Amino acid sequence: MFIVDAHCDTLNGMLIKNTDFNDESLQVNHEGFANASRDGMLQFFAVFESPSYTVSRQKEDVWKMISLYHKTTADFGILKILSKSDLNSNRLSALLSLEGLDFLQGDAEGLKTLYENGVRCISLTWNPDNEFACGVGGNTGGGLTDSGRMIVQKAMEMGILVDVSHICDKGFYEIAGIARKNKKPFVATHSNARKLCGNKRNLDDSMLRALAGSGGVAGINMYSCFLSDDCRAGIDEVIAHIEHICATAGPGHVGFGCDFDGIDRDKSAISGPQELTLVIETLLRINYSEQDVRNIASGNFLRVLGAVLE
Ligand SMILES: [Zn+2]
Repeated sequence: MFIVDAHCDTLNGMLIKNTDFNDESLQVNHEGFANASRDGMLQFFAVFESPSYTVSRQKEDVWKMISLYHKTTADFGILKILSKSDLNSNRLSALLSLEGLDFLQGDAEGLKTLYENGVRCISLTWNPDNEFACGVGGNTGGGLTDSGRMIVQKAMEMGILVDVSHICDKGFYEIAGIARKNKKPFVATHSNARKLCGNKRNLDDSMLRALAGSGGVAGINMYSCFLSDDCRAGIDEVIAHIEHICATAGPGHVGFGCDFDGIDRDKSAISGPQELTLVIETLLRINYSEQDVRNIASGNFLRVLGAVLE
């Protein structure tokens, strides 16, 4: 079964450790990625840099990670997803995403340059507030700013997927409104169900329904503190979140967004992409049709990308 994982922080891990995709200390490394499924896998690679650094340091690191992405995909023969026609190849493939646009300060036009350099998915914020929106860890609760609204609108026109995983609740609903106007789906690449784990990074039931209303998908995050309030989680908790999202929003609106290399290894419900088949096998054993499981494993995110990419 082809697999899509909509979020990892492996580029940041490679940058910090000054290492490459062969390094087995990375949760997502070439071996685990290549062996995740006989039918291939699409991995989203997020570019993330802490907004606590100076803007010039952030810019420098963002461009280093974008270069690392292009070098890694070239060195390992990984297909870069840039348009609709790249989807459904059943190959090892990759999509470049940006987690937080803090480094753009004052340069909302920078989105075009990012697109030209392969970026196909963005989230406005990481946890703190920034010039575009309020983050889940911010203080203002203010939703989107004018430039935040402009950038979401532009992204939807350009064929860039909009991710709400780190935004505050008010910002979530504003993006849902812009998506409705544009008749485009939006996603939460790596967020779980708040009903089962109260962390603000997760989505409550009405948010899950709003996401599904756009045709969008929530990617299940493997971080145990986003799966259970006591930070203890394994496959059972992963399945419980999938089941809750299926019951609330429908089986067409959940996928994987594991957050590998962005979470502590000992707080990761599964160890890496090579263990996603355990989740898939468990779903097949319980009450899901093979088609539903195929959609959860990859079909749902592929459908969204097909509706968004040029
Ligand atoms: Zn994140």
